[in-house]
Amino acid sequence: MNWRSEVERPPGFVFRKHRKGLLRSSETFILHCEDVPLAKLAERYGTPLYVYSTTAILKRLGAFENAFRRVLHTICYSVKANSNLSILRLMARQGCGFDVVSGGELERVLVADRRAAKKVVYSGVGKSRKEITAALKAGILLFNVESESELWVLADCAAQCRTVARVALRVNPDVAADTHPYISTGLRKHKFGVPIGNARELYGKASSARHLKVVGVSVHIGSQITDVAPFAEAIDRVADLVRDLRADKHRIDYVDIGGGLGIEYQAPNLQFVECAARYARAVANPLRGLNVHLLLEPGRSIVGPAGALLTSVIYRKENDGKRFLIVDAAMNDLIRPTLYGAYHEIVPVVQSKKSPAKKETVDVVGPVCESGDFLARDRELPRVEEGDLLAILDAGAYGMALASNYNSRPRPAEILVRGKSAKIIRRRETGRELYAAEL
Ligand SMILES: *Cc1c(COP(=O)(O)O)cnc(C)c1O
Repeated sequence: MNWRSEVERPPGFVFRKHRKGLLRSSETFILHCEDVPLAKLAERYGTPLYVYSTTAILKRLGAFENAFRRVLHTICYSVKANSNLSILRLMARQGCGFDVVSGGELERVLVADRRAAKKVVYSGVGKSRKEITAALKAGILLFNVESESELWVLADCAAQCRTVARVALRVNPDVAADTHPYISTGLRKHKFGVPIGNARELYGKASSARHLKVVGVSVHIGSQITDVAPFAEAIDRVADLVRDLRADKHRIDYVDIGGGLGIEYQAPNLQFVECAARYARAVANPLRGLNVHLLLEPGRSIVGPAGALLTSVIYRKENDGKRFLIVDAAMNDLIRPTLYGAYHEIVPVVQSKKSPAKKETVDVVGPVCESGDFLARDRELPRVEEGDLLAILDAGAYGMALASNYNSRPRPAEILVRGKSAKIIRRRETGRELYAAEL
């Protein structure tokens, strides 16, 4: 049945025959998250609603771990992809460390699991003194330093805290990755890292600072990169740098290769196990023989396909022959389509196979007052009616994390499913919470 294989995201989101109640017909299929029908979650918790599958997250994490089993490594889950405390706790329980890019993310990690601090790496071009000091006090594993100025601020903060900061320089390898320009970071023109050509000199300076300890090299070339070649190229350059640095008598224990492995938003045809294995081969090869502890910072590839955004059709509307589905989720809930022109599969939650709905071409739009408020444009979908439920797939990464309150819209609730159980991991915001700080 290829209508299913195109849109299902096993083991998280699969269609199952409906057996009970009004829709008692073996020809009606309902999209489930694991063993829980999404229609039931929408009824209980309302829409828009983010739903995540624990099993999907664990499987993807397991695939990563397995792909890298032959090399000494630590997965530092990238918090910015999805920073819900329950998701962070789930990762911590699997032994993951974390990649944070702000003091706020570090705070979340510490709340989720205080003991995870020793596996935290901290990246970002604009770390403030306050954020740096908090990270020093928490005793994080590694600062990925992105400029000479930051290096001296870090040294100063460490001196004040009477401690020593473990540092890697985030180098910019000047490789092009075929992804959206907003999420490509590894070219000379980007603000990230220090040019790899200047790194040696800067390492020399860093190692002379009493309160800094050079321990590694880090790199991150961007996000949603589906071809492994740019990773291999970047790591190849990093490996050369490691050899040079060791020749200069620096101790390089860690190589942090960042995140960025992409997912297939459109009709996935490759098992993630295979993707992870390819990625592992591409990045582990150039490092062979260097005997470094590899740090990995995947975000999207772990949580992306493990989440969906449920939304209800409020109105159908036709303007001069152009059809719109106006739904209750909007650009403030999921900004990826309008920010990056991203494609997200959208599927009706209930589908009849006996009398399949006719297909039509629609724009799926939200209630926000912006023409950029769309979730899909010119999309062919089975016809749905007002009140029907849609699932926007692959919304587990950079969905809720990028949600805003634009138009004074409370952000959606979040549900974490495991087997038959569904737990609310963030309740829906109330209108009052949005203006409480202004009263
Ligand atoms: C965003 C980011 C990641 C995670 O990227 P994904 O594409 O979600 O895997 C990892 N490391 C750093 C430094 C980042 O900025």
